[in-house]
Amino acid sequence: MRICRNTSLKPFNTFGLDYRAGTMIHLRTEKEVKAIFKEELSCKKPLLVLGGGSNILFTGDFKGTILLPEFGGMRIEEQKDEHVIVSAGAGIKWDRFAEWCVDMGFSGIENLSGIPGNVGAVPVQNIGAYGTEAKDSIIKIRTISTYNGRVRIFNNDECNFGYRTSIFKSTEKGKYLVTRVYFRLELNFNPNLNYGSLKEEAGKLGRSTLKNVRSAVLNIMHRKLPDPEVIGNGGSFFKNPVVSNTTAEKLIKAYPGIPVYDDLSVWKKLAAGWLVEQCGWKGKRAGDAGVHEKQALVLVNHGNASGKDILNLSEKIRKSVREKFGVNLENEVEIVD
Ligand SMILES: Cc1cc2nc3c(=O)[nH]c(=O)nc-3n(C[C@H](O)[C@H](O)[C@H](O)COP(=O)(O)OP(=O)(O)OC[C@H]3O[C@@H](n4cnc5c(N)ncnc54)[C@H](O)[C@@H]3O)c2cc1C
Repeated sequence: MRICRNTSLKPFNTFGLDYRAGTMIHLRTEKEVKAIFKEELSCKKPLLVLGGGSNILFTGDFKGTILLPEFGGMRIEEQKDEHVIVSAGAGIKWDRFAEWCVDMGFSGIENLSGIPGNVGAVPVQNIGAYGTEAKDSIIKIRTISTYNGRVRIFNNDECNFGYRTSIFKSTEKGKYLVTRVYFRLELNFNPNLNYGSLKEEAGKLGRSTLKNVRSAVLNIMHRKLPDPEVIGNGGSFFKNPVVSNTTAEKLIKAYPGIPVYDDLSVWKKLAAGWLVEQCGWKGKRAGDAGVHEKQALVLVNHGNASGKDILNLSEKIRKSVREKFGVNLENEVEIVD
């Protein structure tokens, strides 16, 4: 366990915001985590578990204690004729794990290649891209209760996974620290190329092999999304709003070009980026807080924006989308005061 005081958060969030954390504790073993939650080690509240900080917007110094799970290890747990069970520690970079799986010939998460952040956040967020969600492959999650330091295993069906959410983000928020995640992956590759431009991009690389699909996903991502190493951002700032069929029909009538996805019978999904772009925000700046010039869904830090500058900009965008389309945008990025 490594304890650091009054630490800069700049290397720990992809918006590149230079706030400070009162205390930061790097955790390598379950024993260390248990010591914190059993109050054997007193630390200042509130507690925040932080992964790669790629979906978090800090709006000031964090006065409490930040816990950084650094559990490592990628393992094959079980191999059968057609599938394999693999696991990874919460502190492993997600894309390192995704790459390892592809190299091993295990399929199921290749469409999630390149997503920033750590394995521990993957079930919390139920990350998704190109028609694949983490929930499709996760079988169980090992956690430690933040109330009593006890280990608890959650099976997939206990996690209430939804669009970029799970119980770890809703009813059980802050109650469990994820230490290890288990996935069921396939040995026979059956590519999922149904989404957007993925089929075309994979086609350019030749046969649809596991490695080519991963490369195609990475190519599209690098083309479309700003690299946080170059310009601070947290990926999609807003979720794609889900509206009733009736609302969708009204919007289609008023705005014939509006993209509407997923026939979920009573609900339809709109493209948040399109709504933001139609309100004229693409490429706009308010000081150093801005909307990315190629992707209206991504808010960026051009250098010296504060978390509050970015939050204020996001609120103006939400207001204008509500006024123009009557649709509420929900944040995908988590705001931390
Ligand atoms: C350029 C860019 C592109 C992106 N593209 C996508 C995309 O295509 N699809 C997508 O779904 N997301 C995308 N994201 C968002 C982000 O990468 C994911 O949400 C990712 O899973 C966040 O991981 P993290 O480790 O950075 O989590 P953090 O941002 O550190 O934390 C996110 C949440 O998880 C909690 N948490 C983190 N680790 C643990 C743990 N071990 N135990 C308990 N709780 C924990 C935190 O408390 C917080 O509530 C993108 C982000 C960026 C910057």
